[in-house]
Amino acid sequence: MQKQLFFKHVAQTSDIPVSFEIEKADGIYLFDKTGRQYIDLISGIGVNNLGHRNQEVIQAIKNQLDKYIHVMAYGEFIQSPQVNFAKMLSDNLSDKLDSVYFVNSGSESIEGALKLAKRYTGKTEIISFKNSYHGSSHGALSITGNERAKRAFRPLLPDIKFIEFNNFNDLNNITHKTACVVIEPIQGEAGVVLPKNDYLIKLRKKCDDTETLLIFDEAQTGFGRTGTLFAYEQFNVVPDILCLSKALGGSMPLGAFISSKNIMSSLKNYPVLGHITTFGGHPVCCAAGLASLKIITEKKIYKLVHYKGELFKHLLKHTKIKDVRGKGLMLAVEFENAEISNKVIRRCMKNGVITDSFLFAPNCMRIAPPLIIEEEQIKKSCEIILSSIEEI
Ligand code: PMP
Repeated sequence: MQKQLFFKHVAQTSDIPVSFEIEKADGIYLFDKTGRQYIDLISGIGVNNLGHRNQEVIQAIKNQLDKYIHVMAYGEFIQSPQVNFAKMLSDNLSDKLDSVYFVNSGSESIEGALKLAKRYTGKTEIISFKNSYHGSSHGALSITGNERAKRAFRPLLPDIKFIEFNNFNDLNNITHKTACVVIEPIQGEAGVVLPKNDYLIKLRKKCDDTETLLIFDEAQTGFGRTGTLFAYEQFNVVPDILCLSKALGGSMPLGAFISSKNIMSSLKNYPVLGHITTFGGHPVCCAAGLASLKIITEKKIYKLVHYKGELFKHLLKHTKIKDVRGKGLMLAVEFENAEISNKVIRRCMKNGVITDSFLFAPNCMRIAPPLIIEEEQIKKSCEIILSSIEEI
């Protein structure tokens, strides 16, 4: 019955949604209507870094619900969940990232960052990367590096150039005309592509030389996913604008673009209110995000992430697996082709492990479990993945 209504009334943008009927979620587990337990290896696509329904996060949400829910459009009232969360984010970021603009999603964080870069530099050219993914709204889609995703929706934003990730020569496209370069420090939907040694440092230098703002989209890489709180820490490069979403809200919807007070101030004049959002920085979401960040930093949840990722890589050995790549718990398992990958994903689900594909890497299977996953659970997951490969 639910399934029929789902297909009838819940808008679909594909004919083959996973259509898993969820009853309950807890820790690293999802439960279907029959009570059957599944290991969640994708965390709602990089969202539930602390697993499902962390009790401290739930308590923070409840406490906030008892005070106020939505009271005013963004930036006017002093709302302590926003203030405390912005302060804690700033405290955990490089000094020059001390001004936080909260929005609702990853796409919106990109929209805000693009406007900020154009407004601050007075320039219009934007440089992005082939195979990048930044969201589905018009601006974010415009800088997404996949022609198939964009073609039907043109005209999109003008003055955008796409360069190849990891191609050092292509950095020469960045000139004094460029307002900003937007990059995922580790490309996610391309199938987890790591930057080559020094690539991001060279990119930073080129941006400095041409007075171009460097924007990092850490929607997927943030909050411990790659073994440090933010991925940029591992590459010795600090962006001018940092875009966050996904795990930011402790499982609640939240996004942010973060910059220096000086750069951010350019949204105050000509026009005043250069960026507006009704729900951005929703107090309940900020309370959840703050509670989640406290746990991640106090317990240093990211400390074991590298080890856990390496354990997946070590265990996932099979003649049908061509490569397992990634950093920390942001991994792609590569197969010969999309058909095999999709069969494995479906079979894993049947056998009690939830994984997924990537938007722009159809021959790869995504592994991005809650960071709290334990060694025994990783072993069990890998056993199920390997036996699923055997079965197809
Ligand atoms: N940037 C990146 C790197 C993402 O992976 C995503 C979502 N997969 C987005 C932006 C868009 O986020 P949202 O779906 O919340 O708009």
